[in-house]
Amino acid sequence: MPANKKLLVLPGDGIGPEVMAEVRRVIDWMERRRRVSFEITEGLVGGAALDAEGTPCPDRTVAAARDADAVLFGSVGGPKWDSLPFDRRPELGILRLRKDLGLFANLRPAIVFDPLADASSLKADVVRGLDIIIVRESTGGIYFGEPRGVHTDSSGKRVGIDTEVYSEDEIARVARVAFDLARKRRNKVTSTEKANVMQSGRLWRAVVSEVHKAEFADVELEHMYADNAAMQLCSRPKQFDVILASNLFGDVLSDLAAALTGSLGMLPSATLGAVGADGKRYALYEPIHGSAPDIAGRGIANPCAQILSFAMLLRWSFGMEEDARLIERAVEQVLAGGMRTADIMQAGMARISTAVMGESVVRELDKIAV
Ligand code: NAD
Repeated sequence: MPANKKLLVLPGDGIGPEVMAEVRRVIDWMERRRRVSFEITEGLVGGAALDAEGTPCPDRTVAAARDADAVLFGSVGGPKWDSLPFDRRPELGILRLRKDLGLFANLRPAIVFDPLADASSLKADVVRGLDIIIVRESTGGIYFGEPRGVHTDSSGKRVGIDTEVYSEDEIARVARVAFDLARKRRNKVTSTEKANVMQSGRLWRAVVSEVHKAEFADVELEHMYADNAAMQLCSRPKQFDVILASNLFGDVLSDLAAALTGSLGMLPSATLGAVGADGKRYALYEPIHGSAPDIAGRGIANPCAQILSFAMLLRWSFGMEEDARLIERAVEQVLAGGMRTADIMQAGMARISTAVMGESVVRELDKIAV
């Protein structure tokens, strides 16, 4: 079978390579059982790239990412590189990839798998069945706006400045991603901002409304202040379908939503660029967790977030919805069978290693695939 699907795999640091090895098992299974084949290139990023090539994101890695149909990213960083100056930190690896590939829409699902409903910090009945997704603008806003920095004012006191800047095009393109996504789900977008106190928030609300009216009037749209959205996520999270947010508010709301699900080790994400004139869309998929240096090398990390990131990749980059669902179901079935890595361990369940979790997912895939 021709290998027509080009993947760049970037395991990175810490538990990255360990959890990525379990995705390889799933890929092997797919190639055996699902009549699909992938052309896989592996590259260096983060601390691993710093050690080998002196930079957290070598040009070669960026070129390979451009050449690939999709990038599967592990995680970067760790104590070994913590004392390096800011401009040489491993975390710059992911920032450069986002910037160079124009990955402006970060999609973070917060899904509560039924067997894990008790692991949430909220009551099980508040989160059972939760399936929401946060679309966060990821290349603009206050993390990039100028002026920024710390300077000393005329009285000798230090002043810290960050600037929230959004152009209407930046807002419109991420709003389109959210509306488009909602159409494939429960058809509702909640757009968050602080239009009551921020000028950029007023523009955000106006542009989202315009895009909605002109292109997505069939989708239900509600506007909500970001602070209220945080409160509503904690009290009635199931009212949401797609939440649209700026870089800053999306950062906060998506971590909050992740906490509702009980474990960092279960949550995937995707970051998408624009569809180019040639129809190609750059996309990077990664778990929301970091490199977990505290448990790296011990074989106990939960590989599910990385495996589910691969499922997202199949859905978004290759339109392989059925295969994506198979993988998601297999993960759920393993959990329903009582298997747990340490991070999601519950009384009466069987504690298993990273590798056994990967093997169990593949075994379930064998059972449920026709
Ligand atoms: P982290 O997500 O790595 O870990 C937080 C806690 O969750 C740790 O106790 C860890 O053991 C646990 N954990 C995370 N993933 C797990 C998994 N799959 N299975 C079991 N337990 C898991 O966050 P942190 O400790 O704040 O950061 C560690 C390093 O990762 C830092 O260098 C940070 O900059 C980096 N980081 C990288 C990314 C990325 O690559 N995109 C994202 C976040 C943090």
